[in-house]
Amino acid sequence: MSEEPTSSSPLKEEADSRRAVVSGPLAYSGESLHFFSNFGDFKSSLKGIGESESFSRGIAALDTILGIKKPPRFPEDLDDASASLAVLEDEFLCRLAISMDEFKRSREEKEAEGAKDETVSASGSSVNVTMKDKRMIAVPPRVPFHIPTIPRPQDVYKIRVNNNNQPFDHVWLDTGDGNMIHPLLKLSVADFVDRKSESEPVEPLHLESTPFKLVETWNDFEMVVAKLRHVDELAVDLEHNHYRSFQGLTCLMQISTRDEDFVIDTLKLRIYIGMYLREIFKDPSKRKVMHGADRDIIWLQRDFGIYICNLFDTGQLFLSFTLYRHQGYCKWKEIVWSIFCVTSVELRQTRSKLFLCSYQSADWRLRPIPHEMLKYSMKSIFPYHFLKFIFPDNLLLKYAREDTHYLLYIYDHMKRILLAESSDGNDLILEVYKRSSTICLQLYKKEIFTNTSFLNIYGLRDADLNATQLAVVSALYQWRDYIAREQDESTGYILPNKTLIEIAKQMPPLPGALIPLVMFKHPVVEQHLSTVIEIIKNSIGNAFSFEMIARQLKLERIEAVSHKLSGDYEIFMGLTRHAMGKGGGCVPSKKRRQAATSEKTAAARDAPIPIEDRSSVETTPAPPPPAKLKVFIVFYSMYGHVEGLAKRMKTGVDGVEGVEGVLYRVPETLPAEILEQMKAPPNDLSIPEISAAELVEADGILFGFPTRFGSMAAQMKAFFDTTGQLWREQKLAGKPAGFFVSTGTQGGGQETTAWTAITQLAHHGMLFVPIGYTFGAGMFKMDEIRGGSPYGAGVFAGDGTRTPSDVEYAFAEHQGRYMANVVKTLGHH
Ligand code: AMP
Ligand code: ZN
Ligand code: MN
Repeated sequence: MSEEPTSSSPLKEEADSRRAVVSGPLAYSGESLHFFSNFGDFKSSLKGIGESESFSRGIAALDTILGIKKPPRFPEDLDDASASLAVLEDEFLCRLAISMDEFKRSREEKEAEGAKDETVSASGSSVNVTMKDKRMIAVPPRVPFHIPTIPRPQDVYKIRVNNNNQPFDHVWLDTGDGNMIHPLLKLSVADFVDRKSESEPVEPLHLESTPFKLVETWNDFEMVVAKLRHVDELAVDLEHNHYRSFQGLTCLMQISTRDEDFVIDTLKLRIYIGMYLREIFKDPSKRKVMHGADRDIIWLQRDFGIYICNLFDTGQLFLSFTLYRHQGYCKWKEIVWSIFCVTSVELRQTRSKLFLCSYQSADWRLRPIPHEMLKYSMKSIFPYHFLKFIFPDNLLLKYAREDTHYLLYIYDHMKRILLAESSDGNDLILEVYKRSSTICLQLYKKEIFTNTSFLNIYGLRDADLNATQLAVVSALYQWRDYIAREQDESTGYILPNKTLIEIAKQMPPLPGALIPLVMFKHPVVEQHLSTVIEIIKNSIGNAFSFEMIARQLKLERIEAVSHKLSGDYEIFMGLTRHAMGKGGGCVPSKKRRQAATSEKTAAARDAPIPIEDRSSVETTPAPPPPAKLKVFIVFYSMYGHVEGLAKRMKTGVDGVEGVEGVLYRVPETLPAEILEQMKAPPNDLSIPEISAAELVEADGILFGFPTRFGSMAAQMKAFFDTTGQLWREQKLAGKPAGFFVSTGTQGGGQETTAWTAITQLAHHGMLFVPIGYTFGAGMFKMDEIRGGSPYGAGVFAGDGTRTPSDVEYAFAEHQGRYMANVVKTLGHH
C-alpha cells in the first residue's frame, strides 16, 4: 500500500516513543501516551512508584512473564502502524496493572513477614514464577457473581417494572413540543466549571474514622437527604445487578460527602430514591463527582427517574478514552485510585482496592449486606489480607464504600492538574465538564424485540446454521424474550445464547432429548420442556422464510475468512502475538474497538442532540485562531478501506489554503464479540468518534462508508438517524456534502451506494457535491480496475485482500481538494 512517507512519520514517532515505554523499565517518554503527556502529576507520582525498588523488581520479572523480549517491528503501512500502536498501548496497560499488583504484593510481603528481597525466579522466556506469585497475580479472591439462593428482590420488596415491548417512557423529563428535554439542555456547561485553584486537595478522613451509615430505613434516608441538601459536592456510585432481572436492578447507591459516607439500599428504598434525590441530582449548584458514569447515568434514569446536571466524571480525564472504557474498566479504575492515593497517607487502605477488583462483579443483591463490624472484630486476630480469603463477603460493603470515599479527593487532584495543564486554546477542565455533560445527556432505552433481533446473538455467525436451524433460533429467541419480560429475568438467565444455539443445532424432537442440554443449568427451560419442544416443531415448518438470511450469513462468514487470510490481518496478528506474549491477553486488544453494549447503543441512539452555541460555552476570550474553513471527513470503516481513502482525502483538503480536513468516525453499532467474529481490526485511536451535534461546526462534509447491498452500511445509517434534532431545526441546510464508498466488486454499488445516500442530504437541505469528471484523464483510464465514479471516490475491497490502488488514492485526494475549493468558494459569499 502506498502512503506518503510524510504522513506516516508522526505515527512512527509516536510508536517509537511508546515502544520506549513498553520496552524500558517504565522509562516512558513524555510525548507518548496522551494520558501521561497531559498530566505532569501522573508522571511524577508514577515515577515515584517506578523508583521504588520493589516495583522495579516487579517490572524486571514482567519482561519474562509477558514474554516480551524485543519491541515489535514498526510496519511500513499506515493502517498497520495504527494497529501496532494499539497493541503497544495494550501492552503498556497490562504492565502497569500487573506491576501495581506486584508492587502491592511485595509491600505486603515485606510488612507481613519482614522478608528480605529475593529475586523473582524467572528464566528464559518460560513463565516460571513461584506458587505464591501465581496465586497473587492470577487468582484474585473470587466473589460469586450469582448467588442462586438469594430471594428475588422483586418479590421481597415488591418491585414492579414495565417490561413490555414498548420504548421506555421518561416520565420525569419535561416535554416541549413532543421532544423530551433533559434539564441539562437548559443550562450552560460553563456555569458548572469550578476554576478555584487556590485550594489544596482535601485529604479524606481515614476510612475508619469517617462517620458511616448503611441506609436501610426510610427514617435514616430522610436524615441523609437532609444532610445532602446542605452540601455542594457529593461523590456518587452505584452497584447493579443485570443477571436476575430483565432490564437490570440498581442494588446500592454510595454517596460520600467531604466528611461522611453513606451506602443506601436502593432495593429496599427503591420507591423513595427518586422522590428525595431527584432534585439534588438535578441541582446545577451541587457538583456530582462520579467515576466512569455512563452506565450509572442510565440506571439512575431507569430505576429512579433521576437526571443529572453538573457532573464531573473522573473517568473523562483521560483524553483518548475510548481506550479506557473498552479496555478493562476494572483495571483502570484501580489504577486511577492508586495513582492518586499512592502519594497520600491512604495507601494502606487503598491497596485493598487493587485486590478486591473482583468485587465489582459481586452479586450485589445479597441481603443483609455483610456487615463491616465482623471484619473489625476479626482484624485483631487475622492480618487483613488473610481475612479477605476467609470472609470475602464481609468486604463487600467496604468495597462499595471505598468507591466513593476517595472520589472527592481524586476530584481535587484532577481539578488542580487540569487547571495547571490548561492553556489558552486548550481548556482541559471545560473539556472534562463537556464530556461529562454528554454522558449525562444519554437517555435510557429499553431493549425492544424485533423479528430480526435474533441476528445479534453472539456466536450466531460462527455457528454455520442452515435455514431450518435459524428458524428455530428465531423462535426460541422470541420465546425467551417473552418469558424474560414476563418473569423479570435477564434473557441470559432464562436461556444463554450458547445453549440456545446448541438446541437449534440439535433440534431435539422430544423432551428427553432436550433435558441433557438444560438440566440443572437452566431451571426455566426445565419447567417448560414441552413448550420448547412444541416451539421447535412449529418453527421447522417456517424454514423457507430463513433461506435468505442463511445465505447472507454464509456470505459474511466467507468475507470474514478471506480477511483472516489477508496480509494486513496477518501482520496485525503477528504483532499481537508478539506483543502480548504468552501471558498476554490480560487486556485483549479487540476490546478496545468502540463497541456498543446494548445499553450503550440504546442510550446513544436515543440521546437528544445537544445543540449548543459553542461561543456561549467557551469562557476565555482566547485570541481568535486563524479561521480555517473545516471539511469534516466522517466515515465508517470496518476493515480499513474507507479509512484509507478518508485519510488521503484529508491530505487533499489540507492542501488547499485556508481549509482544513478533520477526520471523524461514526459510532460502531456492532457488539465487540461480533466485530471479533468478523475479524475487524481495532480502530485508529487518534480519530475521534463524532456525535450528530458536532456536524454543525463543519463548513462542508465528506461522508465515507462501505456498501451493504448497494446502499450505505447500517452503521452510517444509524448515525444519520441520530441527526433528527438537526433536521428538525434544519441546522445543516445549505452545507455542501459529498460521498465516497467502498464496495466488494464491480457492479457492487460504486454508484448506487452514493446515489441512494442523496436522500439523506435532501431532507437536511444539504448541497450534494458530486465530483463529476473533474478528475480528468484519470476518469477515463481503463487499464486497471478502480473504484470511484462521478458521484465520488471509491475503492474495491474485493474479497478483502485488495487494498486501495494508487489511482483510487489519487481520486480520493482529488475529491478532498475539490471539496475544499467548493467550500472555500461558498464560504466567501
Ligand atoms: P462500579 O462503577 O465499578 O462500581 O461498577 C458498577 C457495577 O457495574 C457493578 O455493580 C457491576 O454490576 C457492574 N460491573 C462493573 N465491573 C464489572 C465487571 N468486571 N464484571 C461484571 N460486572 C461489572
Ligand atoms: Zn460506577
Ligand atoms: Mn462501585
